[in-house]
Amino acid sequence: MPHDVVFSPQAEELAELARKIADEYVRPLAARHDKEQTYNREAAQAVAEAGLFRTFIPEAYGGHGAGVLALARVTEELARADSGFGVAFAVNALGSFPIILGGTEEQKQRWLPQVAAGEKLVAFCLSEKFAGSDAQGLSVTAREDGDDYVICGEKKWTTNGGVADIYSVFCVTDPTSKSRRISAIVVEKGTPGFSVEKVEDKMGIRCVPVVETHFDNVRVPKSNLIGGRPGMGFKHAMMTLDCARPGVAAQAIGAAQGALDLAIAYSCRRKQFGKPISSHQMVQQMLADMAIKTNAGRWLVYAAAAGIDAGGGDKVSKMAAMAKCFATDTAMEVATDAVQVFGGYGFMEDYPVAKFFRDAKILQIYEGTNQVQRLVVARHLVREARELEHLDEFIPHEVQRTYAEAEQLVENLNT
Ligand SMILES: Cc1cc2nc3c(=O)[nH]c(=O)nc-3n(C[C@H](O)[C@H](O)[C@H](O)COP(=O)(O)OP(=O)(O)OC[C@H]3O[C@@H](n4cnc5c(N)ncnc54)[C@H](O)[C@@H]3O)c2cc1C
Repeated sequence: MPHDVVFSPQAEELAELARKIADEYVRPLAARHDKEQTYNREAAQAVAEAGLFRTFIPEAYGGHGAGVLALARVTEELARADSGFGVAFAVNALGSFPIILGGTEEQKQRWLPQVAAGEKLVAFCLSEKFAGSDAQGLSVTAREDGDDYVICGEKKWTTNGGVADIYSVFCVTDPTSKSRRISAIVVEKGTPGFSVEKVEDKMGIRCVPVVETHFDNVRVPKSNLIGGRPGMGFKHAMMTLDCARPGVAAQAIGAAQGALDLAIAYSCRRKQFGKPISSHQMVQQMLADMAIKTNAGRWLVYAAAAGIDAGGGDKVSKMAAMAKCFATDTAMEVATDAVQVFGGYGFMEDYPVAKFFRDAKILQIYEGTNQVQRLVVARHLVREARELEHLDEFIPHEVQRTYAEAEQLVENLNT
């Protein structure tokens, strides 16, 4: 493990608060909000009053400055009760990170204290209909006009769309540039020309709105350009995703634990062949594998989060990608097995285990699909291959390429 994982007392205190809110406001209302596709405002209010939105905001702007590891712990506890509410919370960090990591002092002062207080919710608008994994292929434009930018186009799948007040929107500001094509610009709810259109009818995470956001000549002052310099948007997006991925991974670990909790409880009560199914060895094997994978994922997530808190370094995106990929694959596997433990009851919407199963799938898709995470990991491995030069004498001469060739090949494949 590249970093020691140490939980601060503050992180534990915040996680404990999150657990209480999860028990009181999230789990009891999860089925209703899922069915009605409504946002859990009671829980969001409780999260705000408990100061949990302050977790990921630096102290200078009204936050706790508790770091990514604390954010992961809080998200995990909320998602353990309802994976959908887990993302409803965590997406505020995703949308705020471009400002936290790349914003000017004035921008941080302007927006972050309101986010910290839970007065304003945030959304992250990167994806478009024709630009998902290929985030360089954006088409929403922001044209300079005097002291303003004028934004035109549509974003797809904006989580928190409609309930959020602040939108970090990634736009093309220089179509002629390859490396500095994109900029991130803040659009506030209510700006003329900005609208929330199609609200998606989803398989899972139904309590949080995911929408299309439309920009019809939306005029915002240049002071809303994150960082104050155009062309930094792709960098801001990648930095944001590196920091946010332990959050989605923590959502997955919470969801896996939530499904496992149900499976254990059910297996100890359901009797078949005259004894609880938990005493049948094949059920025990499922429960044991679910617990092993969940815990392995949990510590990978904590290590990635601790790495970011320790100052990053060049291994952060590899660790974040590993954690996102493993934890979210784990959530899908564990939720599938939890349904299996429940047998026929697991297939029914009367019980929350079916919802954990439906909610799990999206984890493998958003914030970078798990195929893309594997590409990120592989790219790092090839880049780091020079560290293994001492093994050259054990590699047949006939197959040896230069490291530069191998690096170039993997770069070409992945771009
Ligand atoms: C419910 C939901 C909420 C979302 N929330 C947000 C949000 O808040 N903000 C936001 O900006 N976006 C959001 N998204 C978008 C999400 O991040 C994208 O769906 C995701 O990045 C994948 O893009 P795509 O759907 O266009 O799939 P595509 O990129 O078209 O991929 C389709 C398939 O091809 C694979 N693939 C693509 N390229 C490669 C490659 N080079 N090598 C191997 N396989 C590849 C993918 O892994 C996938 O399996 C959300 C999506 C959903 C469904």
